[in-house]
Amino acid sequence: MSTSVRYQFTPIPFTSVTINDAFWSPRIETNRTVTIGYDFQKSEETGRLANFDKAAGRMAGDHEGIFFNDSDVFKIIEGAAYSLHLHPDPELEHYLDDLIERIVAAQEPDGYLYTARTIAERNGTLEKLKADREGLTRWSHLRVSHELYNVGHMYEAAVAHYLATGKRTFLAIALKNADLIDDVFGPDKRRDVPGHQEIEMGLVKLYGVTGEERYLRLAKFFLDERGYYNQGRQRYGNHDNEAYTQDHLPVTQQDEALGHAVRAVYMYSGMADVAALTGEQAYIDAIGRIWENVVSKKLYLTGGIGARHQGEAFGDNYELPNATAYNETCAAIANVFWNQRMFQLHGDAKYIDVLERSLYNGFLPGISFSGDRFFYVNPLEFDGEYRFNRDDSLVRMPWFGCSCCPTNVVRVFPSLGGYLYAQTEDRLYVNLFMRSQTIVTLAETTVQLSQESNYPWDGAIKFTVQAQRPVAFALCLRIPGWAQGEPVPSNLYHYIDEVTESIRLRVNGDDVAVDLQQGYAILQRTWQPGDVVELVLPMAVRRVACHGAVSDNVGKVALERGPLVYCAEGVDNGGHVLDATLHDEATVEPSFVPDLLSGVVVLRALHATGDLIFVPYYAWAQRGVGEMAVWLQRGVS
Ligand SMILES: [Zn+2]
Repeated sequence: MSTSVRYQFTPIPFTSVTINDAFWSPRIETNRTVTIGYDFQKSEETGRLANFDKAAGRMAGDHEGIFFNDSDVFKIIEGAAYSLHLHPDPELEHYLDDLIERIVAAQEPDGYLYTARTIAERNGTLEKLKADREGLTRWSHLRVSHELYNVGHMYEAAVAHYLATGKRTFLAIALKNADLIDDVFGPDKRRDVPGHQEIEMGLVKLYGVTGEERYLRLAKFFLDERGYYNQGRQRYGNHDNEAYTQDHLPVTQQDEALGHAVRAVYMYSGMADVAALTGEQAYIDAIGRIWENVVSKKLYLTGGIGARHQGEAFGDNYELPNATAYNETCAAIANVFWNQRMFQLHGDAKYIDVLERSLYNGFLPGISFSGDRFFYVNPLEFDGEYRFNRDDSLVRMPWFGCSCCPTNVVRVFPSLGGYLYAQTEDRLYVNLFMRSQTIVTLAETTVQLSQESNYPWDGAIKFTVQAQRPVAFALCLRIPGWAQGEPVPSNLYHYIDEVTESIRLRVNGDDVAVDLQQGYAILQRTWQPGDVVELVLPMAVRRVACHGAVSDNVGKVALERGPLVYCAEGVDNGGHVLDATLHDEATVEPSFVPDLLSGVVVLRALHATGDLIFVPYYAWAQRGVGEMAVWLQRGVS
């Protein structure tokens, strides 16, 4: 297996990017000062941390909570480790040292780590595991037990902790566990697949820091084993619904996004990782086909994915209901991961278009401004009564029995810098717009790029290039699809209005033509220290309509401005919005309101019968319970 192939388009790591952005920095800071500590505290309160002590024999009692709760702890550690990179914090680092010591004590001598089973064996209560369908013996019920899902998150966390602190304490636990799994599973050993994908990405990260090819081979093994359940191999589970875990076909034969959305998209991300390292073209082809399916038929306007509550799953093609949309926050995060990797494979801006949509409108609504309330479920319409959110709730919740989402968001904020820039040998890509600086090496020259903007409220973005000496490279600025009249890279959504504003690009004050390649404006020149590039994206309010096959959206219209999807809330509109009509002839005026929702551009649609007010969808449900709609009746005159 060759390891010479890498992602062709390499992201600039978040450790080389400094974000000081009016929109994102307060959220990153809240994550650091509130959410990380809050999540650890909740994990303590709910027995997630005590489970490690019980497994270690340091505390009496049964395993508490769901059998995959270990994964939540690992995800918070991963987020905390990223945060340590940005903001050294001896107290947090010490807390992690203590926690890792508790985790190592819970690891069995051969490397096995899964507190639910270890506790049950210690207490002689394995029958309880059987009742929970985790199996009496290790690995016997892999489809359900999440034994491999849990440790996949541990690998990601351990690598993050090692890179942040230089300490090998957690990495050693992860490697010992991965070595055990490599001893047990393989083409000539036990053959099975995890019910919930995640270990694939984790193993690739272990390979990344150790260079041990067997971790990469094991990741590929778990992918290649999928779809062979019916070839005489015994597996536990309901084989009538293999698509739920993407086990219905070999991964290279799949071409539609099916089943549990987070599992699916973690798998596509793992396939991209393995393909980048092995050159496995059949993986690249398969995830390319699946991506086309999602973007053309299964993507909400908000970038959310996974339409169905039942099974937390993708719906059929064009099955995109608004009020009952599931759109798990974790699935939006997974969509960010996947589209970043698709960009890294192909260097096309269309993937970042989807990533940006999911980041601002799919991920961000999942967490309150306060950093301690969460949506698991993200509908596009709400009547004020339907208990859409997990655990039968209709507001952002402090926690959930299954708290995958509150613990996933803490990984995203501190690592956000890793999505802004990318490079090849002679190209520097700008993918997202935030006030930030980065330092990269191009043509053996250190180049500093600074970006100033008031995005997403303002489309004017200014870049300054600083280098020790003149240096030739191409600066590639992403021109979002929405700025070119295409909300998504498919015909699933389209703009129904005309816009006369155009994209403007200047270098050192002189207008230059926009030379578009794969969605990027390419500026190839020998850069002089202090050169300035100004990009102006049109920030007109846009009316969007949906493909006619989506029954919920027939005759409806939605509003966007820049990367943001808007919604109407009852609180701004006399209590009711579900019966509201947005007329085509109504002028829509944007205005920045600094003291509303931490400062947002509000849209006011002027109607003779009374104005309609819209706020960014990410900021909905921060002012009590009430009606909300992204899609409104379209009034055509
Ligand atoms: Zn989740």
